[in-house]
Order: sequence, then structure tokens, then C-alpha cells
Amino acid sequence: TIGMLAIDKNGDISGACTTSGLAYKMAGRVGDSPIIGSGLFIDNEIGGCVATGLGEEVVKTVGSFLVVELMRQGKSPQEACEEAISRIVNKPNSDYKNFQVGYIAVNKKGETGSYAIHEYFSMTKYQNEVNENIQADFIIK
Ligand code: ASP
Repeated sequence: TIGMLAIDKNGDISGACTTSGLAYKMAGRVGDSPIIGSGLFIDNEIGGCVATGLGEEVVKTVGSFLVVELMRQGKSPQEACEEAISRIVNKPNSDYKNFQVGYIAVNKKGETGSYAIHEYFSMTKYQNEVNENIQADFIIK
């Protein structure tokens, strides 16, 4: 998935994502990316989130919606991404060591966050005319 979040000078938030789905996927499989609330969710009053990784796990936790709702409750984008990942990881019998899920998020103030299960999930942040490459924090190296 390539996920994008943007906030303009008026504070209006938008987002998009594109994906080829998973390799060797079943014919007819629908991943998380085209499902609003799972792979992508924006609430212009609160913030936005995009997911990547194993879509089935994101769909089961309605991940991007969850991140935005956590921000609505007062969590920072970083805290919200971490909580949404922990919901997946802490499920009974979660096989999380064998799949990746990552989130990026932005809130109405333009604060950002990112978190993933595994290493090597990165985002590029462009803010105040500066480009920054950020390696997301992760659970497993
Ligand atoms: N999230 C996508 C899917 O499960 C895969 C990806 O990260 O591109 O379809």
C-alpha cells in the first residue's frame, strides 16, 4: 500500500491509498485499502489514518477508524497508532510475528505518528518546506 495523508493551511485533511493487494491473493479478495474505515479513514474534525500490511487484520479491528477515534478521545497520533497495533498483537492466538501491519496518522494540529509490528516501515513527512524520512517505531526487529 501507498498511503497518503495531507493537511492544508486551513487545517483541512484529506487522504488516499493505493494497493495491489497481497501476493497470491484469492480471486475476488477485497483487502482493507478500498474499505473506508479499515485501510483509510479521515474525519476532518479530528484527523486521518492510513494502514498497510495484512488487510484481514486491519479489517477485523477497523484499524484506521480506530486510530481516528482514539485521537478523538485525546490520544496523540503516535499513541493512537500504537494502541491500534496493540489491539492486533494482543488478540488471543495472534500470529503477529508472521505478518506486518503499519499505520500512519495525522491530527488536526498537523502532528503525526506512525507505528508498525515489524521494522522497516517508513514514511516521508513534508512540513514547513522540509522533507523528513521517518522510520516508524515497531515491535519486532
Ligand atoms: N493492505 C493491503 C491488503 O491487504 C496490502 C498492502 O499493504 O498493500 O490488500
